[in-house]
Amino acid sequence: MAIQLFKAKYEVEECLEQIKECLEAGWTGLGFKTVEFENAWKVYTGLPFSHYLNSSTIGLYMAIDILKEQYNWADEDEIITTPITFVSSNHAILKSHMKAVFADIDETMCLTPESVSAHITDRTRAVMYVGLGGNMGHYHEIVNICKEHNLKLILDAAHMAGTRYKGEIPGGDAEVVVYSFQAVKNLPTADSGMICFKNGKFDEIVRKKAWLGINKDTYARTQNMGNYKWKYDVEYVGEKGHGNSIMAAIGLVQLKYLDRDNAYRRQLAHWYTDRFKKYEDKIKLVQIESGCESSYHLFQICVENRDELMLALNAAEIFPGVHYASNINYAMYSYAKGTCPFSDYVSEHTLSLPMNLYLTYEDVQKICDEVIKFIEKN
Ligand SMILES: *Cc1c(COP(=O)(O)O)cnc(C)c1O
Repeated sequence: MAIQLFKAKYEVEECLEQIKECLEAGWTGLGFKTVEFENAWKVYTGLPFSHYLNSSTIGLYMAIDILKEQYNWADEDEIITTPITFVSSNHAILKSHMKAVFADIDETMCLTPESVSAHITDRTRAVMYVGLGGNMGHYHEIVNICKEHNLKLILDAAHMAGTRYKGEIPGGDAEVVVYSFQAVKNLPTADSGMICFKNGKFDEIVRKKAWLGINKDTYARTQNMGNYKWKYDVEYVGEKGHGNSIMAAIGLVQLKYLDRDNAYRRQLAHWYTDRFKKYEDKIKLVQIESGCESSYHLFQICVENRDELMLALNAAEIFPGVHYASNINYAMYSYAKGTCPFSDYVSEHTLSLPMNLYLTYEDVQKICDEVIKFIEKN
C-alpha cells in the first residue's frame, strides 16, 4: 500500500462526541468550545494568553498588524525572516507593508544567529522565527539577539505544537507565538490556529480585530446579564478571523493526545536516524539541539539528487514532500536572490520523509531501504 507523507489521525469517537455536544447545544460558532480550547491551550503551554483563530495565517497577519500599530512601526521598516518556510510567514510581513529581510538558515533548518545579527539595521523592528519541522534550532540565541537590539520576536510555531525545551513549552519570551492546527499539522483540526500574545492588552485587541473589530463577542453578550447587551461598538476595520466551536471541539480532543502522538513521532524519527547514521556523508540529517524535544512535525533529510530520489520513492509508492522551496524563488521576494546560499542549497536538496501516526516500524524500514538503495547507486 502507498505510504503518504501526512495522514492525520483523529480520535474519531471522542471527536464526534464533542461535535455532537455543539450540535445539540445549537452552538457551533465563536464561544463555548473556542473558550474551552483557549483555556486548555493556556494550561498546556503555560503561555498567559491564547486566542483561537480560523487559521495560523490570519494569526501571523494580525500579529504583525497589531505590533506595527502598537509600536508605531513605519511602512518599509524591516523584519528579519527565513526563506525556508511556508509563504504565510513572509506574506504576513508584506501584508503590513513592511520589508521582509531574509537571513540564512543552517543545519537546524532554522535561522542562524550570525546571519540574523548581520542583517540588523536601524530599521529592523522584529525577527520572524520559524521552528521548522518542530525543531527549535538556535531559538535561545535569537531571543538574546532580540533583547540586545530591542527587536520584537514573532514565533511562527506552526510546526511546534508540543515541542519542549528541557521539559517546558518554549515561547514565553517571544512577543507573540502563532500555532497552526491545519489539516496536516501535528495537532490537526481541519483548519484553525492559535495566537498567543505576551501582552494582555494585545490579546484584547486581537479578540476584537479577529471579529471585524467588534468589541464584545457573542458569548460575552449572551452571558452578560446587564442591560443593553444587544449593543456593541466597532473599534477597528477588522478581519473575520476567529475560530469556531466545531474545530475547537476536535482540537480539544486532539490536544489530550498530543504528547502521546509526538512521542510516537520521536520514535519514528529515531528509527529513521538509526538507519541513516551510517550514511551521514550522503544523507544529511537535521541537527536537533540537545535539550530540544521536537514535535517532529517533519523528518527532513538533505541528499545530492533530491528530485531523482523523489521519483524513485514515488515509483515504490512512497510519497515524500518538500518543506520548503526557498520563498526567494517567488516573484515578490526575488529582490533577495543570492543572499541566502545555504537556504538555496536546502531548497534544492531537502525532502521530508513520511511522518504520520499510521506508520509502523516496517514502513520506516521499507522507506529507509528505498532511500539507501538509491543512495548506494547514485
Ligand atoms: C502551515 C503553516 C502556516 C499556516 O498555517 P495555516 O493554519 O494553514 O494558516 C504558517 N507557517 C508555517 C511554517 C506553516 O507550516
